[in-house]
Amino acid sequence: MPLSQQHLHDIEQRLRDRRAALAAELRQETRDEDGLLRLPDHRGEGDRSVGFEMEAVDLAQSLRDADELQRIDAALQRLGDGSYGTCADCGESIGDARLRAEPTALRCAACQQRFEHLHPPG
Ligand SMILES: [Zn+2]
Repeated sequence: MPLSQQHLHDIEQRLRDRRAALAAELRQETRDEDGLLRLPDHRGEGDRSVGFEMEAVDLAQSLRDADELQRIDAALQRLGDGSYGTCADCGESIGDARLRAEPTALRCAACQQRFEHLHPPG
């Protein structure tokens, strides 16, 4: 079943709220003057890579936040270009319930399982 416009709108709103919260959090953790961690303030047009030069203390949390931020950016981009909700691997619909639970999901449940099997975390 295709996603309704209302559902897409809800997801986009959730993603934008979450993105703003994450960005604020990261800015607090960021110490630009020391060049320890630099993150873009805005979603750029081309290069979205995040540069890290930092010490280890808050690294894990900051990396998780930055990683989520990038996944949110990617999801917002897919919302913009119309590919949102389509599995990146098999091209099937990811599914309404899965997207509600995980709005940044890139793959359907089956492909995600296979991906995690091939690329175990850590
Ligand atoms: Zn799939």
